[in-house]
Amino acid sequence: MDRIAEMKKLNLNYSKIPYKTKNWDLSKVLVQGEGPLDAKVMFIGQAPGRNEDVERRPFIGTSGKFLTQLMTLAGIDRKSVYICSVVQFFPPLNRMPTDEEIELCKEFLFKQIDIVNPKLVVLLGALASKTVANVEKVGTNHGTIIEKEGRTYFISMHPAAAVRIRTKIPVMEKDFKKLRTVVKKIL
Ligand code: URA
Repeated sequence: MDRIAEMKKLNLNYSKIPYKTKNWDLSKVLVQGEGPLDAKVMFIGQAPGRNEDVERRPFIGTSGKFLTQLMTLAGIDRKSVYICSVVQFFPPLNRMPTDEEIELCKEFLFKQIDIVNPKLVVLLGALASKTVANVEKVGTNHGTIIEKEGRTYFISMHPAAAVRIRTKIPVMEKDFKKLRTVVKKIL
């Protein structure tokens, strides 16, 4: 099966999960990943926000706009990357997804990574860093690189954190300038 057919099937199955799961508490709207399926770079966030839930597109709210600016600093064109989140349904009141919700959603995320097969994965925030690379303490580990099974992972803070706490903006900008050198080296 080609990538387009595989991703279509995955998203269809993923979109049915809310209707098959008892006591589902997240939005029932799937905010599916966006971008070319042969992207060399993949960005993974936590979960969609209210704007994303309405528009059904990832990272289109305030933190998404900041993320697009950060990508420019890293020399990355947003249109060239695949963007998604660990949990692809909006959690009410923007709460952290529960362990059960993460468990249900992560198998879809891992399949998406397999389908796109990116060279570089940028993990935005604690949930993505823990779920995908088993990295804890993003507060101290942001800006670091992990090589695993032929793929490079870049640990980053979540852009929403910098939108909330403005002193983190220059810190993220510095990390994304570092990401620029990583991108140049491996792409
Ligand atoms: N934050 C995320 O982690 N994902 C989105 O899609 C939007 C905001």
